[in-house]
Amino acid sequence: MVVVSVGAAGLGGIKVLMMSETTRFFVRRNKRSRAMSQKDHLPSTQYHNKKFDLPEIEEFAYRGANKLIQSRTSEMDSTVTSVESEVASSRPSGESPANWEIVLEGIRKMRCSADAPVDTMGCEKAGDTLPPKERRFAVLVSSLLSSQTKDQVTHGAIQRLLQNDLLTADAINNADEEVIKKLIYPVGFYTRKAFNLKKIANICLMKYGGDIPNSIEQLLSLPGIGPKMAHLVMNVGWNNVQGICVDTHVHRICNRLGWVSRLGTKQKTLTPEETREALQRWLPKEEWVPINPLLVGFGQTICTPLRPRCGDCSISELCPSAFKETKNSSPSSKS
Ligand code: SF4
Repeated sequence: MVVVSVGAAGLGGIKVLMMSETTRFFVRRNKRSRAMSQKDHLPSTQYHNKKFDLPEIEEFAYRGANKLIQSRTSEMDSTVTSVESEVASSRPSGESPANWEIVLEGIRKMRCSADAPVDTMGCEKAGDTLPPKERRFAVLVSSLLSSQTKDQVTHGAIQRLLQNDLLTADAINNADEEVIKKLIYPVGFYTRKAFNLKKIANICLMKYGGDIPNSIEQLLSLPGIGPKMAHLVMNVGWNNVQGICVDTHVHRICNRLGWVSRLGTKQKTLTPEETREALQRWLPKEEWVPINPLLVGFGQTICTPLRPRCGDCSISELCPSAFKETKNSSPSSKS
């Protein structure tokens, strides 16, 4: 591993961890550069009307080092003077939990190897070689199939639909429901999802010219599409960040870390939607997109639903739930 650290006087204090010969890396910015980059934080009215200029989820992980540094540098150079006032008016208003930046950095380091299923088979990877319109539809389909289903299984179903030329609204609208059902099996609730897929394809054809809706409200009106999927589709499909995509991993881990609580209490949040609202009250908006794949992969590999591997977790000393949910993990087993 090579660590390249560039001072604030140089390229905005960007620190890049480079892994062997691959282009996968995670980026951590110091406070000064973080403040600068918060030009993306718009006041609430603007925020909902203007498309964000954030990179797509996978770009946070895969974009080439030179390209990333160049783009961040030019962004900063051209906007330094106008950023300060925008940052002040658009920063999330809630109180952030103690040590959250250290914890996040620790999770990033644990995720450096990028060996979780989400890193290669997450919904945001669906149709990533297709033209934009087809890709958006593929991401929507993948999101629909992903509920109650492992990434590997969803990925397999998407591949089979693609191989059978059934990954466009037109093709699914014309296809036999039984054929779709067989192709997506064994995703969870495949019968219901095949039915919903046909309906969604028809709506996309009739109302959106074969494309997908471009607002949270319209996406939520599609059968089988919930908030988690709608936010993912907006982020990845339209590059328009309206909120955090909170799935079961993000919901569980944020509660274990004590990052979220029910409004006005110290109790855990009860639903992913409650977690999303609580998280959005304090998490800087520049983290809203990368937090999903980061925590999903962490949940798939270390902070698992059952028996989390606290003994292998480098942030256990800062985690209020460490070693509480498993008898097999103990501080002495820490590697
Ligand atoms: S210490 Fe255990 S519960 Fe806490 S984040 Fe790490 S793996 Fe999860």
